Amino acid sequence: MSQNIEQLARANVRALTPYQSARRLGGNGDVWLNANEFPLPVPFELSQQTLNRYPECQPKIVIERYAAYAGLQPEQVLVSRGADEAIELIMRAFCEPGQDAILFCPPTYGMYSVSAETIGIEYRTVPALADWQLNLPAIADQLEGVKVVYLCSPNNPTGNLINQDDIRELLAMTAGKALVVADEAYIEFCPQATLTSWLKDYPNLVILRTLSKAFALAGLRCGFALANKPVIDLLMKVIAPYPLATPVADVAGQALSEQGIALMREHVAQLNENRSWLLAELAQIACVEQVFTSETNYVLARFTDSPKVFKTLWDQGIILRDQNKNPGLSGCLRISIGTHEECGRVIAALQALSVEQA
Ligand SMILES: *Cc1c(COP(=O)(O)O)cnc(C)c1O
Repeated sequence: MSQNIEQLARANVRALTPYQSARRLGGNGDVWLNANEFPLPVPFELSQQTLNRYPECQPKIVIERYAAYAGLQPEQVLVSRGADEAIELIMRAFCEPGQDAILFCPPTYGMYSVSAETIGIEYRTVPALADWQLNLPAIADQLEGVKVVYLCSPNNPTGNLINQDDIRELLAMTAGKALVVADEAYIEFCPQATLTSWLKDYPNLVILRTLSKAFALAGLRCGFALANKPVIDLLMKVIAPYPLATPVADVAGQALSEQGIALMREHVAQLNENRSWLLAELAQIACVEQVFTSETNYVLARFTDSPKVFKTLWDQGIILRDQNKNPGLSGCLRISIGTHEECGRVIAALQALSVEQA
């Protein structure tokens, strides 16, 4: 008997294009530079043997250590199943489906739209200016009915920070009407730029963090929302009862120990060095049209023939992230900063391509 199960699904889910994560896109590489992961595994050992018990909803040690690391109070920290879960929790707590909207400024991180579409919330886009900064007048024109504005700083995939004066203006513009969510997934690569010290002045500010990037724990699935208590209390109403598995909390606690944070900072220093080298080399390669400065563990570059570059490196096992179809990013590829050796493989492959083309 044939049953059309597809028809049973919600209309917005039938229409949904799921997030094209690096892992879903596949590939057969040995140099994975498409997901902004840390290139090497960091060893941890599990210390908890109590898997017969449900975990704490908000593991105390993780909350306290993250609060200390971020310079905040524990009541200003919520831990979630990756920053991605926090992106969605905010919509579920603050946006009425079919009525309220969210807003963001492409090119930027893909999950804001995917979460909105999944839940059935309208999303509005105000393209970033040519220098990837906010178009504040255009945002002001679009704010009617908007409950959450998502910013990404430093921005994925462009790598730049959003001007702090502009963020202040946006926070003033949205006061009492909408939250401003600053996604700081890459802030460890430019820690001076964090907005955490602004929380005391702005009740409508939320900051997102993750252990997936600088902390080298993308496989752990652990992220954070930082905000004042009234926001955190609302998010606590909609979060799952057990968002973090016991082993996740165990490893997160270790990653946030003094030694864990020191190790992360060494890794960041190393990657920042590799990035400077990669940027300098890219600037001298013929098939590279433009390289963008970056405050993160990836660089964005525009190529004379990006499909050819993407495919040629793919065939050599070097997997980059294609941004060619993104608004404003024609010809662009995003390259995560890997080990020194991996950066060298990219440079050599691009040099060979340029010689071939000349
Ligand atoms: C990687 C990334 C995330 C997701 O972080 P997880 O904690 O792995 O869910 C969120 N925002 C941006 C901008 C990212 O690049």
